Amino acid sequence: MRRKIVAGNWKMNTSVAEGVALAKAVAAGAIEVPSDVDIIIAPPFTHIVPVAEAVAGSRIAVSAQNCADEPKGAYTGEVAASMIAGAGCRYVILGHSERRQYYGETSEKLVKKMRLALAEGLKPIYCVGEKLEERNAGNHFAVVGAQLAEVLFELTPEEASKVVIAYEPVWAIGTGVTATSAQAQEIHAFIRGSLAGKFGSDFAEEISILYGGSCKPSNAAELFACPDIDGGLIGGASLKAEDFLAIAKSY
Ligand code: PEP
Repeated sequence: MRRKIVAGNWKMNTSVAEGVALAKAVAAGAIEVPSDVDIIIAPPFTHIVPVAEAVAGSRIAVSAQNCADEPKGAYTGEVAASMIAGAGCRYVILGHSERRQYYGETSEKLVKKMRLALAEGLKPIYCVGEKLEERNAGNHFAVVGAQLAEVLFELTPEEASKVVIAYEPVWAIGTGVTATSAQAQEIHAFIRGSLAGKFGSDFAEEISILYGGSCKPSNAAELFACPDIDGGLIGGASLKAEDFLAIAKSY
């Protein structure tokens, strides 16, 4: 049975003290979230150790927002998958559109990151999604299909089975514009169909596919009710414990 997941991507926000307080508030409020929903928070690198300590013993899992594409060595400013795992993370977000857009993240690099993360026992949350012009041109299926083929389909079935997918249309991230539930369900079904074509239908049924892009308490329930939407990757609304928990309670 695939997992229901609500993950908060804090991006480059909060001081360490604010992050620890936010994590504690999420952990305290999680008692009201249905027990079959996995809750993940992804603070900045500097916050991982104190945040992991703050939520230790709770149901909250910690994720990093990125990892290096090399295992160790002379790569100034980079943080290795092994370091992230050692610091207390169970997940790592990879291929977020902000990383693809601003930091030149290529499919080739992402395959290396995925393999390094998986080798450390981290579960990648692999982000895919089209830009506005690509959707307007009717190319969204082709774009997302290529993002799956160039990265996820390079992995073995065993490796790929550990991955959580997040469909995040770039035009909906941080814009306040959410994909309609029909638009989201259509492309989630396409993603699951592509997974079935590559790895088989049993495999595809077990993979969680999250929606991300201006998801908030007012629209989460409708999105999560779609048959192929298994939860959300939440940006802005994850910075307020009350909103993030309200989204997680939408199941
Ligand atoms: C994100 O960046 O992963 C995201 C979904 O952001 P927001 O919820 O703010 O649109």
